[in-house]
Amino acid sequence: MILEIKDLYVSVEDNMILQGVNLTVKGGETHAIMGPNGTGKSTLAQICMGHPKYKIESGDILLDGISIKDKAVDERSRMGVFLAMQNPTEVPGVTNFDFVKAAIQTRMAEGEHLRVGKFILKFEEASKNLQMGKGLAHRFLNQGFSGGEKKRNEILQMKLLNPKVAFLDEIDSGLDVDALRIVGENVTKLKSDDLGLVLITHYQRLLDHIVPDVVHVMINGKIVKTGGREIISKIDSQGYDWVKTELGITDFDQRKVPVSLGTCPTKSLK
Ligand code: ADP
Ligand code: MG
Repeated sequence: MILEIKDLYVSVEDNMILQGVNLTVKGGETHAIMGPNGTGKSTLAQICMGHPKYKIESGDILLDGISIKDKAVDERSRMGVFLAMQNPTEVPGVTNFDFVKAAIQTRMAEGEHLRVGKFILKFEEASKNLQMGKGLAHRFLNQGFSGGEKKRNEILQMKLLNPKVAFLDEIDSGLDVDALRIVGENVTKLKSDDLGLVLITHYQRLLDHIVPDVVHVMINGKIVKTGGREIISKIDSQGYDWVKTELGITDFDQRKVPVSLGTCPTKSLK
């Protein structure tokens, strides 16, 4: 597996949020993306999954050498892209179990059928490992789930969908210490040479449980620093000001640039 994000410029409602992101994630690697609020981390995850709210102004996203930027969300999912959302959506009327079952069914080749008995066992085992209450399977998707239940449920889906590249967007938010450990253990068990992991987080505590190989700092829609785990503790104790100082990033840069004035190379100034 190789995911390549190439010089990506992304806008939302005419504001350029991502301003030239480059990132390569290979199977077996775990990357952490850290950065202040509003800096474009979720935008990056959402655009890779194909959220229609975000628009690619230029650049490309390639999975195993194939551009996915014009592919529909379901197609990306079939190709192996997965996103554990920062704020999982509540879907009244669809049970959790039926949702995951349908997601797996639609990814099967024509003529192949889901063996429901086997699937139930896998679902039960995954929920047990995540220490989720049995009743959650038959409740409506995320409706009335606690923050922690929603996040565990995202990992449950990941386990069953078996992606090639997974973005976990603030999977630690809303988790207490025990839940964090359980989620961490479950995600770590999923690590393999066939899976690329991208963890988006603010906190060292997640990265103590799911240890990254590479750490990136995103500021103002750009990855401005890449390094090893030493970056994590420095951010934990000192925040992001040292990165800004080191790189000469000013508050002026923080203003989101309207698309018409963007630095995107394919957009000319109006
Ligand atoms: P992060 O995940 O790093 O906190 P986001 O990717 O969620 O940041 O947001 C990046 C920026 O995009 C923020 O400034 C946010 O206000 C802006 N943004 C997100 N959604 C919209 C929207 N629908 N309309 C306008 N701006 C948006
Ligand atoms: Mg976010």
